[in-house]
Parts: sequence; C-alpha cells; structure tokens
Amino acid sequence: MFSAKKKGRKNPGKFSETLQQRFEGKFRVTPGCWPWTGSKTLKGYGQLRWKYNSLVASRVSYELYVGPIPEGLMVRHRCDNPSCVNPDHLELGTAADNSADMVQRGRHNNGSLAIQRGLSK
Ligand SMILES: [Zn+2]
Repeated sequence: MFSAKKKGRKNPGKFSETLQQRFEGKFRVTPGCWPWTGSKTLKGYGQLRWKYNSLVASRVSYELYVGPIPEGLMVRHRCDNPSCVNPDHLELGTAADNSADMVQRGRHNNGSLAIQRGLSK
C-alpha cells in the first residue's frame, strides 16, 4: 500500500496527543470569531475533555496562544460570543469586571440605576 521511502517524520515511541493537538481539531478559524465546534456547556462556552478533566476552551486557547492565566483571573470575551476561542478576542479580567460589564450592557438593568443617556445629538 504505502511505500515508506520518505523517512522525514520520525514517530516518537509512544503516541501521545498534546492538549494543543486536541484543541486544534475542535474549532473553525474565520476572519472574526473562531467558533468552537466541540461540546459546549449549558451557557455556550466551549468545553474540552482532557485527562478526565473538563476544560474551558477559551481558557485553553488563552494559555496556548497568549500565556498562562494568573490565579484568580478569568478569561473574558471581548466579543459577545461565549463559544469563541480566538485569542484576539480574549482578555483577562476578574469576576468583578465581568459583572460590571454586564451592568454596562444593560443585562442587569433593574431601573433603579437608570442613567439618562445624552440625547444631545
Ligand atoms: Zn470572538
């Protein structure tokens, strides 16, 4: 069947898939967001099973392409797409940042803090 004349690639003794290899088969690269095509959490975040753990895809992406995530910080999406794993769309933040964002975006708008938006156009 296959002639193995070329020996350019040497296989390491044991096959071991790296986290990166596993990760990279599970999203689509587009000019905008990189939508996760693997399994997702109920909230729509990408999920990756790895060594009996369940990892959050956006965190894996950040660690692979940007750098380690300091303890206590979370990876937030600059785009509003929880399943996106484009490192350009990810940034570090605290949980407090995240809820401040939600207030700004009006998701927690209960009326009591309604700010009059300038109508001076
Ligand atoms: Zn995105």
